[in-house]
This record gives sequence, C-alpha cells and structure tokens, in this order.
Amino acid sequence: MIRGSCLCGAVAFELAQAPEIMNLCHCSMCRKASGSSYGTFAHIKRGQFRWTRGDAEITRYESSPGNFRAFCKICGANLPVSDADDDYVCIPAGTFDDDPGIAPQVQIFAGSKAPWHEITDQPPSFDEFEPEDFF
Ligand SMILES: [Zn+2]
Ligand SMILES: [Zn+2]
Repeated sequence: MIRGSCLCGAVAFELAQAPEIMNLCHCSMCRKASGSSYGTFAHIKRGQFRWTRGDAEITRYESSPGNFRAFCKICGANLPVSDADDDYVCIPAGTFDDDPGIAPQVQIFAGSKAPWHEITDQPPSFDEFEPEDFF
C-alpha cells in the first residue's frame, strides 16, 4: 500500500500499487493551485485508489470546464481528484506519505512556465500536452 494525506491529516487515501504516470505541469492554473513553480501529479487507475478517511472534508473547485481540483476544507492542501467518469485518479504528488515508486516522466505546458524557473533537459518537456504516443 502507498499512503497519502493532506497537511492536517483529516483526509487520507491509499493506492494498491505504484502509479503508472507522473508528470510536472507548468501551466498557470497548476502554479496558482499549488502556490509553487509547477504542479506534480501522479495518475493511477481508479480501481487502485481508495479514500481511507475524511470524505466530508473534501471540497472542489472547477478550474476549467469539467476539470476539478480538490482540496481539504480545513488545511487547504491539494487532494486527489477522483471522478466517476474518469478512468484515472489525479494525485498531487506532495500528498504522498510513502514513496510512490515513480518519478516524473514528462513536463507539460513548459510554454507557460514561471519566469524564475529554469527547465532542465530531464524529464522531457513540451510546450503543451505531451504527444499522444508519448506513453
Ligand atoms: Zn487537511
Ligand atoms: Zn497544469
């Protein structure tokens, strides 16, 4: 099991296995939501993810049509987004308590990066989404 939780610990979740994908997103929305240079997200099939506590403390914000960001009502920490109509759960990587067993494989929306942040060669970066055949 790979465990994760919010800053105050009210909300927690676990994964049955390591996520398949981890990316860094430099878009302006991920920068604002994370309050940092970029967002780091792990992606795992819904069946491998479950909430272990704190459902009632989760709130969501629709940052673009149909795209939600979840956070803890108490501490404001970003939380995974698990939508019934989405095959994958998107997990802000800073929430992991255990080693998720994966490192970032790609950087997306490098065209929107923060002016103070220098992107190095690895992992590969793209101005917007990675090409469809990347994974
Ligand atoms: Zn919290
Ligand atoms: Zn983004």
